[in-house]
Amino acid sequence: MAVKVGIPRGMYFYKYYPFIQTFLTELGAEVVPSPETTKEILDKGVLYSIDDACLPVKVYHGHAYNLRDKVDRMLVPRLTSVSKGEYICPKFGGLPEMIKYSVPDLPPLIDTEINLIKNQRELVKALYKMAFSLKFKNPVRINKGISAAMKANREFEAAVHKGNTPDYVIAAIPHMSYKTKARIGLIGHPYLLYDNFVNMGLIKKLRERGIDIITPDMLDPHIINERCMELSKRMFWSSGKDLIGSALYIMDNSSIDGMLAITAFGCGVDSLAGEFIEKQARKYYKKPFMVLNIDEHTGDAGFNTRIEAFFDLLDWRNTNASYLSAHGRSIYSS
Ligand code: SF4
Repeated sequence: MAVKVGIPRGMYFYKYYPFIQTFLTELGAEVVPSPETTKEILDKGVLYSIDDACLPVKVYHGHAYNLRDKVDRMLVPRLTSVSKGEYICPKFGGLPEMIKYSVPDLPPLIDTEINLIKNQRELVKALYKMAFSLKFKNPVRINKGISAAMKANREFEAAVHKGNTPDYVIAAIPHMSYKTKARIGLIGHPYLLYDNFVNMGLIKKLRERGIDIITPDMLDPHIINERCMELSKRMFWSSGKDLIGSALYIMDNSSIDGMLAITAFGCGVDSLAGEFIEKQARKYYKKPFMVLNIDEHTGDAGFNTRIEAFFDLLDWRNTNASYLSAHGRSIYSS
Protein backbone atom coordinates (compact mmCIF):
# COMPACT_ATOMS: atom_id res chain seq x y z
CA MET A 1 0.00 0.00 0.00
CA ALA A 2 1.28 3.46 -0.89
CA VAL A 3 2.63 5.56 1.94
CA LYS A 4 0.27 8.47 2.69
CA VAL A 5 2.08 11.80 2.90
CA GLY A 6 0.15 14.73 4.39
CA ILE A 7 0.78 18.28 3.20
CA PRO A 8 -0.61 21.07 5.41
CA ARG A 9 -2.46 23.70 3.36
CA GLY A 10 -0.54 26.65 4.72
CA MET A 11 2.57 28.82 4.33
CA TYR A 12 4.00 28.11 0.83
CA PHE A 13 1.32 25.57 -0.13
CA TYR A 14 -0.03 27.90 -2.85
CA LYS A 15 3.46 28.34 -4.29
CA TYR A 16 4.88 24.84 -4.33
CA TYR A 17 2.05 22.31 -4.01
CA PRO A 18 1.91 21.28 -7.72
CA PHE A 19 5.68 20.71 -7.67
CA ILE A 20 5.83 18.61 -4.53
CA GLN A 21 2.57 16.79 -5.18
CA THR A 22 3.83 15.68 -8.59
CA PHE A 23 7.21 14.63 -7.22
CA LEU A 24 5.79 12.51 -4.41
CA THR A 25 3.08 10.97 -6.60
CA GLU A 26 5.65 10.03 -9.24
CA LEU A 27 7.69 8.29 -6.54
CA GLY A 28 4.65 6.23 -5.59
CA ALA A 29 3.34 8.04 -2.51
CA GLU A 30 -0.28 9.02 -1.95
CA VAL A 31 -0.44 12.75 -1.30
CA VAL A 32 -3.08 14.02 1.12
CA PRO A 33 -3.46 17.81 1.41
CA SER A 34 -5.39 19.21 4.34
CA PRO A 35 -8.74 20.83 3.44
CA GLU A 36 -9.29 24.54 3.01
CA THR A 37 -8.98 26.54 6.23
CA THR A 38 -12.06 26.54 8.46
CA LYS A 39 -12.82 28.14 11.83
CA GLU A 40 -12.06 24.83 13.50
CA ILE A 41 -8.65 24.59 11.80
CA LEU A 42 -7.82 28.16 12.81
CA ASP A 43 -8.98 27.56 16.41
CA LYS A 44 -6.80 24.45 16.70
CA GLY A 45 -3.88 26.40 15.23
CA VAL A 46 -4.31 29.16 17.78
CA LEU A 47 -4.59 26.56 20.56
CA TYR A 48 -1.43 24.66 19.62
CA SER A 49 0.90 27.51 18.64
CA ILE A 50 2.70 30.10 20.73
CA ASP A 51 0.82 33.37 21.30
CA ASP A 52 3.21 35.63 19.45
CA ALA A 53 3.40 33.54 16.26
CA CYS A 54 2.09 35.34 13.18
CA LEU A 55 -1.34 34.38 11.84
CA PRO A 56 -0.05 32.19 8.93
CA VAL A 57 2.10 30.13 11.34
CA LYS A 58 -0.93 29.60 13.59
CA VAL A 59 -3.06 28.54 10.63
CA TYR A 60 -0.32 26.08 9.59
CA HIS A 61 -0.42 24.47 13.06
CA GLY A 62 -4.16 23.97 12.61
CA HIS A 63 -3.64 22.23 9.26
CA ALA A 64 -0.96 19.96 10.74
CA TYR A 65 -3.40 19.05 13.53
CA ASN A 66 -6.13 18.32 10.98
CA LEU A 67 -3.91 15.84 9.13
CA ARG A 68 -2.33 14.15 12.14
CA ASP A 69 -4.46 10.96 12.14
CA LYS A 70 -5.02 10.70 8.37
CA VAL A 71 -1.50 10.11 7.09
CA ASP A 72 1.61 7.98 7.67
CA ARG A 73 4.10 10.85 7.29
CA MET A 74 3.73 14.62 7.19
CA LEU A 75 5.81 16.94 5.01
CA VAL A 76 7.01 19.98 6.96
CA PRO A 77 10.20 20.99 5.13
CA ARG A 78 12.71 23.32 6.67
CA LEU A 79 12.78 26.14 4.12
CA THR A 80 15.90 28.24 4.60
CA SER A 81 16.28 29.73 1.13
CA VAL A 82 14.23 29.24 -2.03
CA SER A 83 16.32 31.49 -4.28
CA LYS A 84 20.04 31.89 -4.84
CA GLY A 85 21.45 34.71 -2.67
CA GLU A 86 18.21 35.22 -0.75
CA TYR A 87 16.73 34.01 2.52
CA ILE A 88 13.14 33.64 3.50
CA CYS A 89 11.54 34.46 6.82
CA PRO A 90 13.22 32.45 9.65
CA LYS A 91 9.80 31.18 10.74
CA PHE A 92 9.90 28.81 7.75
CA GLY A 93 13.18 27.39 9.03
CA GLY A 94 11.75 26.84 12.50
CA LEU A 95 8.49 25.25 11.36
CA PRO A 96 9.49 21.57 11.85
CA GLU A 97 10.46 22.21 15.48
CA MET A 98 7.43 24.40 16.16
CA ILE A 99 5.09 21.76 14.75
CA LYS A 100 6.90 18.78 16.33
CA TYR A 101 6.83 20.22 19.85
CA SER A 102 3.45 21.94 19.75
CA VAL A 103 1.00 19.69 17.90
CA PRO A 104 0.19 16.41 19.69
CA ASP A 105 0.00 12.91 18.18
CA LEU A 106 1.74 13.67 14.91
CA PRO A 107 3.04 11.02 12.50
CA PRO A 108 6.80 11.22 11.75
CA LEU A 109 7.67 14.43 9.92
CA ILE A 110 9.65 14.75 6.70
CA ASP A 111 11.66 17.83 7.60
CA THR A 112 14.23 17.94 4.79
CA GLU A 113 16.05 21.26 4.58
CA ILE A 114 15.72 23.25 1.35
CA ASN A 115 18.57 25.74 1.22
CA LEU A 116 19.28 27.25 -2.20
CA ILE A 117 21.27 30.24 -0.91
CA LYS A 118 24.44 29.17 -2.76
CA ASN A 119 23.12 27.10 -5.61
CA GLN A 120 19.75 26.21 -7.12
CA ARG A 121 21.10 22.69 -7.74
CA GLU A 122 20.90 22.01 -4.00
CA LEU A 123 17.21 21.37 -4.67
CA VAL A 124 18.02 18.08 -6.40
CA LYS A 125 20.06 16.90 -3.40
CA ALA A 126 17.22 17.86 -1.06
CA LEU A 127 14.68 15.95 -3.17
CA TYR A 128 16.91 12.87 -3.11
CA LYS A 129 17.09 13.15 0.71
CA MET A 130 13.32 13.47 0.88
CA ALA A 131 12.83 10.41 -1.35
CA PHE A 132 15.34 8.37 0.70
CA SER A 133 13.57 9.32 3.95
CA LEU A 134 10.42 7.79 2.43
CA LYS A 135 12.40 4.66 1.47
CA PHE A 136 12.25 5.40 -2.27
CA LYS A 137 15.80 4.69 -3.38
CA ASN A 138 15.60 4.08 -7.13
CA PRO A 139 17.57 6.97 -8.78
CA VAL A 140 15.85 6.48 -12.14
CA ARG A 141 12.47 6.93 -10.51
CA ILE A 142 13.65 9.88 -8.42
CA ASN A 143 15.03 11.65 -11.53
CA LYS A 144 11.80 10.97 -13.38
CA GLY A 145 9.89 12.43 -10.43
CA ILE A 146 12.09 15.56 -10.43
CA SER A 147 11.55 16.13 -14.18
CA ALA A 148 7.79 15.66 -13.85
CA ALA A 149 7.71 18.04 -10.85
CA MET A 150 9.67 20.71 -12.78
CA LYS A 151 7.23 20.40 -15.68
CA ALA A 152 4.21 20.63 -13.38
CA ASN A 153 5.71 23.71 -11.76
CA ARG A 154 6.33 25.41 -15.13
CA GLU A 155 2.72 24.75 -16.17
CA PHE A 156 1.42 26.00 -12.81
CA GLU A 157 3.46 29.22 -13.02
CA ALA A 158 2.38 29.80 -16.62
CA ALA A 159 -1.29 29.47 -15.63
CA VAL A 160 -0.81 31.91 -12.73
CA HIS A 161 1.06 34.41 -14.94
CA LYS A 162 -2.00 34.44 -17.18
CA GLY A 163 -4.01 35.92 -14.31
CA ASN A 164 -5.40 32.79 -12.64
CA THR A 165 -5.09 32.67 -8.86
CA PRO A 166 -3.02 29.69 -7.56
CA ASP A 167 -5.92 28.31 -5.47
CA TYR A 168 -8.03 28.01 -8.63
CA VAL A 169 -5.18 26.46 -10.64
CA ILE A 170 -4.51 23.89 -7.90
CA ALA A 171 -8.21 23.05 -7.59
CA ALA A 172 -8.39 22.88 -11.43
CA ILE A 173 -11.24 25.39 -11.45
CA PRO A 174 -11.38 26.98 -14.90
CA HIS A 175 -10.72 30.70 -15.05
CA MET A 176 -14.02 32.54 -15.11
CA SER A 177 -14.33 35.73 -17.06
CA TYR A 178 -15.72 38.59 -15.03
CA LYS A 179 -17.18 41.85 -16.16
CA THR A 180 -14.52 44.19 -14.90
CA LYS A 181 -14.78 47.89 -14.27
CA ALA A 182 -11.41 48.32 -12.56
CA ARG A 183 -8.13 46.52 -12.04
CA ILE A 184 -6.08 46.74 -8.86
CA GLY A 185 -2.80 45.40 -7.54
CA LEU A 186 -3.34 43.05 -4.60
CA ILE A 187 -0.11 42.75 -2.62
CA GLY A 188 0.61 40.19 0.09
CA HIS A 189 2.09 36.80 0.92
CA PRO A 190 0.47 33.87 -0.93
CA TYR A 191 -0.79 32.38 2.35
CA LEU A 192 -2.76 35.57 3.00
CA LEU A 193 -3.96 36.21 -0.54
CA TYR A 194 -5.22 32.75 -1.48
CA ASP A 195 -6.51 31.41 1.83
CA ASN A 196 -10.14 32.41 1.48
CA PHE A 197 -10.97 31.85 5.13
CA VAL A 198 -8.06 33.89 6.43
CA ASN A 199 -8.76 36.83 4.09
CA MET A 200 -12.55 36.53 4.49
CA GLY A 201 -13.15 35.88 0.80
CA LEU A 202 -11.37 39.06 -0.30
CA ILE A 203 -10.72 38.02 -3.93
CA LYS A 204 -14.32 36.85 -4.35
CA LYS A 205 -15.58 40.15 -2.91
CA LEU A 206 -13.37 42.10 -5.31
CA ARG A 207 -14.51 40.10 -8.32
CA GLU A 208 -18.17 40.44 -7.38
CA ARG A 209 -17.63 44.20 -7.55
CA GLY A 210 -16.12 43.92 -11.01
CA ILE A 211 -12.55 44.42 -9.80
CA ASP A 212 -9.87 42.37 -11.49
CA ILE A 213 -6.63 41.76 -9.60
CA ILE A 214 -2.95 41.39 -10.27
CA THR A 215 -0.91 39.74 -7.51
CA PRO A 216 2.88 39.34 -7.07
CA ASP A 217 2.62 35.70 -8.23
CA MET A 218 1.09 36.81 -11.53
CA LEU A 219 4.12 38.95 -12.38
CA ASP A 220 7.19 37.70 -14.16
CA PRO A 221 9.93 37.38 -11.48
CA HIS A 222 12.27 39.38 -13.78
CA ILE A 223 9.98 42.40 -13.42
CA ILE A 224 10.08 42.10 -9.63
CA ASN A 225 13.87 41.71 -9.62
CA GLU A 226 14.34 44.68 -11.92
CA ARG A 227 12.19 46.95 -9.78
CA CYS A 228 14.10 45.91 -6.66
CA MET A 229 17.38 46.86 -8.36
CA GLU A 230 16.23 50.48 -7.98
CA LEU A 231 16.49 50.22 -4.19
CA SER A 232 19.57 51.69 -2.53
CA LYS A 233 20.30 48.36 -0.81
CA ARG A 234 19.92 44.85 -2.19
CA MET A 235 16.84 43.08 -0.90
CA PHE A 236 17.90 39.65 0.33
CA TRP A 237 14.57 38.53 1.78
CA SER A 238 12.59 36.72 -0.94
CA SER A 239 9.13 37.53 0.40
CA GLY A 240 9.94 41.20 1.09
CA LYS A 241 11.41 41.48 -2.41
CA ASP A 242 8.22 40.08 -3.97
CA LEU A 243 6.09 42.59 -2.08
CA ILE A 244 8.25 45.64 -2.76
CA GLY A 245 9.09 44.79 -6.40
CA SER A 246 5.48 44.16 -7.33
CA ALA A 247 4.25 47.27 -5.47
CA LEU A 248 6.77 49.47 -7.34
CA TYR A 249 5.68 47.94 -10.65
CA ILE A 250 1.98 48.44 -9.87
CA MET A 251 2.50 52.04 -8.76
CA ASP A 252 4.11 52.84 -12.12
CA ASN A 253 1.52 51.06 -14.24
CA SER A 254 -1.06 53.47 -15.60
CA SER A 255 -3.52 50.68 -16.46
CA ILE A 256 -3.88 49.63 -12.80
CA ASP A 257 -6.45 51.68 -10.88
CA GLY A 258 -5.34 51.22 -7.28
CA MET A 259 -3.50 49.01 -4.82
CA LEU A 260 -4.57 47.00 -1.80
CA ALA A 261 -1.97 45.47 0.52
CA ILE A 262 -2.90 42.70 2.91
CA THR A 263 -0.47 42.18 5.80
CA ALA A 264 -0.26 39.90 8.83
CA PHE A 265 -0.20 41.32 12.36
CA GLY A 266 3.11 40.47 13.96
CA CYS A 267 4.95 39.88 10.67
CA GLY A 268 8.48 41.31 10.66
CA VAL A 269 8.75 41.25 6.85
CA ASP A 270 5.42 43.05 6.47
CA SER A 271 6.31 45.69 9.00
CA LEU A 272 9.44 46.53 6.98
CA ALA A 273 8.17 46.05 3.41
CA GLY A 274 4.68 47.38 4.25
CA GLU A 275 6.11 50.55 5.80
CA PHE A 276 8.33 51.12 2.76
CA ILE A 277 5.46 50.57 0.31
CA GLU A 278 3.15 52.82 2.31
CA LYS A 279 5.71 55.63 2.37
CA GLN A 280 6.36 55.33 -1.36
CA ALA A 281 2.62 55.22 -2.09
CA ARG A 282 1.88 58.29 0.02
CA LYS A 283 4.71 60.24 -1.60
CA TYR A 284 4.35 59.30 -5.24
CA TYR A 285 1.20 57.28 -5.87
CA LYS A 286 -1.80 59.23 -7.02
CA LYS A 287 -4.34 56.42 -6.92
CA PRO A 288 -6.36 54.69 -4.16
CA PHE A 289 -4.19 52.68 -1.79
CA MET A 290 -5.08 50.85 1.40
CA VAL A 291 -3.36 48.45 3.81
CA LEU A 292 -5.46 45.75 5.50
CA ASN A 293 -3.71 44.23 8.50
CA ILE A 294 -5.24 40.98 9.72
CA ASP A 295 -4.91 38.57 12.61
CA GLU A 296 -7.08 35.81 14.06
CA HIS A 297 -9.33 38.37 15.77
CA THR A 298 -10.13 40.36 12.64
CA GLY A 299 -13.91 40.40 12.22
CA ASP A 300 -15.82 40.23 8.97
CA ALA A 301 -17.76 43.43 9.72
CA GLY A 302 -14.76 45.71 10.27
CA PHE A 303 -12.93 44.15 7.34
CA ASN A 304 -15.91 44.66 5.02
CA THR A 305 -16.25 48.29 6.09
CA ARG A 306 -12.66 48.96 5.08
CA ILE A 307 -13.05 47.21 1.73
CA GLU A 308 -16.25 49.18 1.06
CA ALA A 309 -14.28 52.36 1.80
CA PHE A 310 -11.71 51.26 -0.77
CA PHE A 311 -14.44 50.55 -3.35
CA ASP A 312 -15.84 54.03 -2.69
CA LEU A 313 -12.39 55.53 -3.24
CA LEU A 314 -12.08 53.73 -6.57
CA ASP A 315 -15.57 54.81 -7.70
CA TRP A 316 -15.11 58.38 -6.50
CA ARG A 317 -11.79 58.70 -8.21
CA ASN A 318 -13.05 57.22 -11.47
CA THR A 319 -16.04 59.52 -11.63
CA ASN A 320 -14.96 62.74 -9.90
CA ALA A 321 -11.35 63.57 -9.33
CA SER A 322 -8.74 61.77 -11.31
CA TYR A 323 -6.24 64.57 -10.69
CA LEU A 324 -6.26 64.27 -6.89
CA SER A 325 -4.55 61.79 -4.61
CA ALA A 326 -7.27 59.63 -3.12
CA HIS A 327 -5.49 59.11 0.18
CA GLY A 328 -4.81 62.72 1.16
CA ARG A 329 -1.64 64.69 1.58
CA SER A 330 1.53 62.95 2.75
CA ILE A 331 2.21 63.27 6.45
CA TYR A 332 5.84 62.24 5.98
CA SER A 333 8.43 64.95 5.81
CA SER A 334 10.98 63.05 3.71
S1 SF4 B 1 6.93 36.47 6.47
FE1 SF4 B 1 5.61 37.27 8.10
S2 SF4 B 1 3.65 36.28 7.81
FE2 SF4 B 1 5.19 35.08 6.71
S3 SF4 B 1 5.88 33.53 8.16
FE3 SF4 B 1 7.27 35.24 8.34
S4 SF4 B 1 6.43 36.48 10.03
FE4 SF4 B 1 4.81 35.09 9.34
